[in-house]
Amino acid sequence: MITLAHMADPTASSPGSASPAEPNQADRPVYVIGGGPGGLAAAYALRAKGLRAVVLEKSDQVGASWRRHYDRLHLHTTRRLSDLPGLAMPRRFGRWVSRDDVVRYLEKYAEYHELEIVTGVEVSRVERSPDGTGWLLHATGGRELTGAAVVVATGYNHTPRIPDWPGRDTYTGELLHAGDYRNPEPYAGRDVLVVGVGNTGAEIAVDLVEGGASRVRLSVRTVPHILRRSTAGWASQYTGVLVRHLPVSLVDRLAGPVGRLSVPDLSAHGLPRPDTGLYSRVHEGSIPVQDVGLIDAVRKGKVEVVAAVEAFDDGKAVLADGTRVEPDAVIAATGYARALEGLVGHLDVLDARGRPVVHGARTPANAPGLYFTGFTNPISGMLRELAIDAEKIAKAVAKDGTRQASRLPVT
Ligand SMILES: Cc1cc2nc3c(=O)[nH]c(=O)nc-3n(C[C@H](O)[C@H](O)[C@H](O)COP(=O)(O)OP(=O)(O)OC[C@H]3O[C@@H](n4cnc5c(N)ncnc54)[C@H](O)[C@@H]3O)c2cc1C
Repeated sequence: MITLAHMADPTASSPGSASPAEPNQADRPVYVIGGGPGGLAAAYALRAKGLRAVVLEKSDQVGASWRRHYDRLHLHTTRRLSDLPGLAMPRRFGRWVSRDDVVRYLEKYAEYHELEIVTGVEVSRVERSPDGTGWLLHATGGRELTGAAVVVATGYNHTPRIPDWPGRDTYTGELLHAGDYRNPEPYAGRDVLVVGVGNTGAEIAVDLVEGGASRVRLSVRTVPHILRRSTAGWASQYTGVLVRHLPVSLVDRLAGPVGRLSVPDLSAHGLPRPDTGLYSRVHEGSIPVQDVGLIDAVRKGKVEVVAAVEAFDDGKAVLADGTRVEPDAVIAATGYARALEGLVGHLDVLDARGRPVVHGARTPANAPGLYFTGFTNPISGMLRELAIDAEKIAKAVAKDGTRQASRLPVT
């Protein structure tokens, strides 16, 4: 990895300088915002096309999101279908790769491909360059950087979101977002309410049970589709890949019987089968829960399913069915915001939910040269999608004759 942090950055203007000299068009790199798997894959793919790509990462290391995930996390997607382009994950990482090995892999990936990465630089706003042929990035320390094209890879799970529950401030127990949860140790012997049953909430509930919490309740608003991570060696991700481009209604119909065969009926435990189709849900933005112990824990009564949290009152959580509970801690596995508004919201490139209107090779009609990766949540696995989009983006930038991104010297 070529890390430029703390080195003289040739494209940076001095803090406070109003109008930096614009680099010659042919000297403009492609800027990639974010040094997670999506940004690193895009930088590699651009480099493989002979284009100079510079990754701008706000933290001081690559893979910042993965470094923060909870300790027991393993990929739900298989190692082989989670590789980024140009470097396979080693076999010794096993089929379900651990969080620490994902981080090792991302570090190695940046080093192996000699990616140009500037750490400690947060991009706050992207604008058209004054000459209209590129993009001007406003970044930490008053930097103004002009790129031929820009890839936004700042992550789907950017900013933790906790609902603004009425009376939240009356709760005197511990309230944290799942993004701040590391392991069950601090909760041993305690009564914990996990709110939200996505993959993260489901796994944290199981982790708490195994780690000795005295009581674990899981608050559910919408019953999830639950899948076995693997059945007789067949990873559910393989099915996700196969059906990725089939019509939604067909996949919904196929998924019903498969779900009934592989997952027991948990209605008696508060988790009836969902009445909307699995793939319809994915299209609405919610991917199925991959079982890593939830089914067993619910069946054995170790995780108690309760209604959605509506509010807090007098220090208690008020649930949708009127029940009031008073746990020692509440862990809100309630998702993240994309938080792209400040960065690109003014460019009219986001939909009503704050997601980019395009991804991969396509750029918005009103913002040519502005690419997005990592803002979809496909059934076939996000890492796989990031790898595919990286190649498509690089191909599109290389083909775009109007944007003369600087080329790497031929060796
Ligand atoms: C708990 C969890 C488990 C997951 N498991 C799987 C799995 O098993 N398989 C799978 O395929 N996918 C999985 N995913 C989804 C996805 O693969 C990961 O979220 C992945 O890290 C997404 O990569 P990314 O590069 O798009 O975003 P991130 O990894 O979030 O990287 C974004 C980077 O951008 C930086 N950044 C943000 N804003 C700025 C800015 N303004 N300026 C500069 N830098 C900035 C951040 O510091 C960060 O390093 C999981 C996600 C989560 C949350």
